[in-house]
Amino acid sequence: MSLLIFFGAPGSGKGTQAKKLIEKHGYHHLSTGDLLRECKNDKTHPLNSIISSKMEKGELISDDIVNDIISHKLSQIFNASIIFDGYPRTINQAQFLSQELKKYGKVISRVFLFDINPDVVVDRVVNRQVCKNCGAIFNSKFNPVKEKGICDICGGKLETRIDDNEQTIRNRIKIYNESCSDLLSYYSSVVYKIDASQNADIIEKEIIQSIQEDKSLPIIG
Ligand code: ADP
Ligand code: AMP
Repeated sequence: MSLLIFFGAPGSGKGTQAKKLIEKHGYHHLSTGDLLRECKNDKTHPLNSIISSKMEKGELISDDIVNDIISHKLSQIFNASIIFDGYPRTINQAQFLSQELKKYGKVISRVFLFDINPDVVVDRVVNRQVCKNCGAIFNSKFNPVKEKGICDICGGKLETRIDDNEQTIRNRIKIYNESCSDLLSYYSSVVYKIDASQNADIIEKEIIQSIQEDKSLPIIG
């Protein structure tokens, strides 16, 4: 049982790696971006309009809303091995997460920092394509599908996220940079830095190796 945080700029490859660990090693993927997109796509959700307008501009959703979502999810899966992806993004969220985990007698085992140059990230994000059906992540430049617009895995339709344009991504990187050093200080004893500009398979191997080397972080299955 281990709790990991994937921390890095938008587009640094957190979701891509999280999906690999879920498939092969039985982790739960807890992405606040994915959960917020579900609220954004549900027109009847009471917070739909505030979440939509903030996400479209690349701004952060308020800590109260995001912490509530995490609290609810954790109550369902607190006994599982979890990858937190895109959360926490502020010190308030990090403190909230520590308090919530304490209730269940848990702590964060490791924070993987996806270290990457912002220009590389912009190029990745503007070319990102996501399957509407299964959520698989592709890239028209770096990881293209075999048949244009169609998911290699499930045959679903690919779409481009509304916030994956150059202007919004620059704003998202700026917001990430503002809280980055405070969050890394908060987790300084458990941070493991990865060169996220490498090939995705090499990054996967490095993450697995790092987990296996630490006996308190078993790979499951
Ligand atoms: P994040 O979850 O950090 O926002 P994603 O995992 O969605 O990032 O990756 C952003 C884009 O970059 C996607 O289109 C993905 O296919 C691509 N990508 C992810 N990892 C790599 C990599 N190591 N090399 C090249 N492209 C990558
Ligand atoms: P992501 O899928 O991680 O790139 O997140 C997409 C968008 O969702 C962000 O630009 C924010 O608007 C919102 N979001 C995701 N996670 C958080 C969070 N932990 N705190 C605040 N807003 C978030």
